[in-house]
Amino acid sequence: MSLPGNYLFSEIGKKVNVFSLQHPDAELIRMGIGDVTRPLVKAVIEAMHQAVFEMSVAETFRGYGPEQGYRFLIEKIIEKDFKSRGVNIQPEEVFVSDGCKSDMGNIGGLFAKENVVAVTDPVYPVYVDSNVMDGRGGDISVLGMWKNIVYLPCTKENGFIPALPEKPVDIIYLCFPNNPTGTTLTRPELKKWVDYALETGALILFDAAYEAFIAEKEVPHSIYEMEGAENCAIEFRSFSKTAGFTGIRCGYTVVPEKVAARTGSNKKVFLNALWNRRQTTKFNGVSYITQRAAEAVYSDEGMRQCKENIAYYMKNAAIIRDGLKQIGLEAFGGINAPYIWFKTPENMGSWTFFDRMLREIHVIGTPGVGFGPSGEGCLRLTAFGSREDTITAMERFQSWNV
Ligand code: PLP
Repeated sequence: MSLPGNYLFSEIGKKVNVFSLQHPDAELIRMGIGDVTRPLVKAVIEAMHQAVFEMSVAETFRGYGPEQGYRFLIEKIIEKDFKSRGVNIQPEEVFVSDGCKSDMGNIGGLFAKENVVAVTDPVYPVYVDSNVMDGRGGDISVLGMWKNIVYLPCTKENGFIPALPEKPVDIIYLCFPNNPTGTTLTRPELKKWVDYALETGALILFDAAYEAFIAEKEVPHSIYEMEGAENCAIEFRSFSKTAGFTGIRCGYTVVPEKVAARTGSNKKVFLNALWNRRQTTKFNGVSYITQRAAEAVYSDEGMRQCKENIAYYMKNAAIIRDGLKQIGLEAFGGINAPYIWFKTPENMGSWTFFDRMLREIHVIGTPGVGFGPSGEGCLRLTAFGSREDTITAMERFQSWNV
């Protein structure tokens, strides 16, 4: 394995540090990293206080909980995230965790080294790096592409809709609403992937971390809204962006009983029992306090309050999108996701434009090429900042002679 260091974020950090040292008075606006800034909502805080109190009393104190998560949370997840959309999920198919990144990284431990993995390009780096760590990458090319991984370009030219792989694959990572492009698939577009997986025996790993940001009716919230997906897809969810839990840590993964993967000798292995075995061996569950906090996200008050925060971020997204468009830049996403992906003027390289933004208007974005070769010539901005910073950043863009 020859996995390089995390080039993208360390490189950004280094450049920003050097610039800050040289220009201590520059007021930097950080729109690079996708972390939330709004505090936890009242309903969540109250539930956590109550849970802390319960832990202080012998009668209600809790020690180890079930590794898969407490029933009170799993039942809420099933009712509010799935039943409400006509999807039937069994409690034994839901696994509560400390977040989606861990699950997306750990799930690879179940698969054969021989499995061929497909990812969209640009892509959330965890999918690629964790597969490389598990030995499924092969050699790396000069462009930073792994020889054994199949890359599915998502660009302006194909409307950010990946084409089906041209060669057989075993595992397909899909993330919609997408990080980094902020774009989505409609139901027929996602159905095409489910049909492909059912036809070829491939497994889909569907990352729905940004589900709560979906505003348009034609965009599916869960892959299980597609007929047959319960036979070929695992879905990953997170409370990080939905409810500001990036620091609290909670998410969950749905592994339907009927979902299987191919072994190295081309046999089928069912994944629900295997994931359960993995989790009960290597994971001891999410804290009671955190799970009560997550449960509160589903209360009427909790849902209303979280929606207010999401609306706040999505107003920022609209300000960014409109601001970029007003100065003639092509911008995508930002309607069903808190990310805006834009093309640099005159096909300037991602890093060149990143440097100019930093030096000339003191705004930090993320260079698109850091997410994969198809991201070259693009940048990502996030809508997770404060309103004030977002407006100031866009004012700087407006008065910038780019
Ligand atoms: N999946 C995607 C696509 C993400 O962008 C992120 C976080 O940025 C995660 C997963 C991680 O989620 P969590 O905080 O639940 O680990």
